[in-house]
Amino acid sequence: MANRILRHIENITRQRDNNLLDSSIINALIQLIEPRFVRLLQLYNRETGLAAVTTAWSDGVHVHSLEDIPSDNDFEAIENLPGLQKCLEVAGASSELDSQTSAYHHWFPVYMHGSPYASVEIVSERQLTISKHSMVEGIMAVYLNFLSLLEDSQRDGLTGLANRKAFDRSLKRLLTTVSAQDSAQEGRRRGTGRENWLAIVDIDHFKMINDSQGHLMGDKVLIELAGILRRSFRVQDRIFRFGGDEFVILIRQTDSQHVATSLERFRINVEDHSFDASVGRITVSAGYARITPNDTPTTIIGNADNAHYYAKEHGRNRVCGHDQILAEKKLHV
Ligand code: GH3
Ligand code: MG
Repeated sequence: MANRILRHIENITRQRDNNLLDSSIINALIQLIEPRFVRLLQLYNRETGLAAVTTAWSDGVHVHSLEDIPSDNDFEAIENLPGLQKCLEVAGASSELDSQTSAYHHWFPVYMHGSPYASVEIVSERQLTISKHSMVEGIMAVYLNFLSLLEDSQRDGLTGLANRKAFDRSLKRLLTTVSAQDSAQEGRRRGTGRENWLAIVDIDHFKMINDSQGHLMGDKVLIELAGILRRSFRVQDRIFRFGGDEFVILIRQTDSQHVATSLERFRINVEDHSFDASVGRITVSAGYARITPNDTPTTIIGNADNAHYYAKEHGRNRVCGHDQILAEKKLHV
């Protein structure tokens, strides 16, 4: 048994990708606990309250994982998961017998920096033995420690946002899932208003803040801007610090009108924000482009970059779409 556990720990700590890490946890739990069903859930603080997304699961035969960033349909309100709710209330494992299926549902919570972060649900014919119970807790402790390391390596140290490395991974993953869905639906997805978008934003004349108020004040502005970004977009949109004063946002499953409105709202939030009095008013410029299946990351970033450049060239403190530039170019041919 000890050898089997060590083999699983070796496999878990070999992963460098969150989805593969989740699958390796499920794999270990299936083999070591032999339950009827197991799933791993990530917890999110949404405007409507705490919600859970199942990121990996198995019925004992195959291991499945959520390949994509969660969409609206993937979120389950915590009120619909009483077992999970109970384990979070007691801040420890809880179990209950489902009289309809005669199966036990065991819930184990995972906390990161003191906040509920994830949970595992194990469904079994019998109550877990003490040794299996502590095995699950041990595996979840390894999961949490390793996840913290993985998350730290994908996080920007100054703003706490995801970094460039995480962005490269997310865009690549998104393109893989979007092209799989697109071929499955024979292109019907395009034009349905549920497309994905890439936006690039940066601060106007940021160098002047560094030059006049010093690098530390520049850093403070970047941290505050990251806070405004977090408040301005939905949980399922992902925000990254691309480098310097440049940020990118993956805006998920929506139409161009919503993208333009969200970015405009963010632009106004920045304009209205009271930064340190010595800094005065700060503005941002944004450009965005559609994420089209079969396009390469270079093309998509290039399109968003052109739109961003256009916004800079046309007065700054504005939002510009790549489609808009193409339409204007056509007008002037
Ligand atoms: P523009 O309106 O054209 O964007 O002008 P800008 O002055 O913002 O020009 P640019 O975007 O090229 O300047 C970015 C500056 O950000 C240059 C660099 O010194 C500064 N910078 C990069 N990383 C950091 C950082 O971590 N902290 C601080 N304080 N400054 C940084
Ligand atoms: Mg700038």
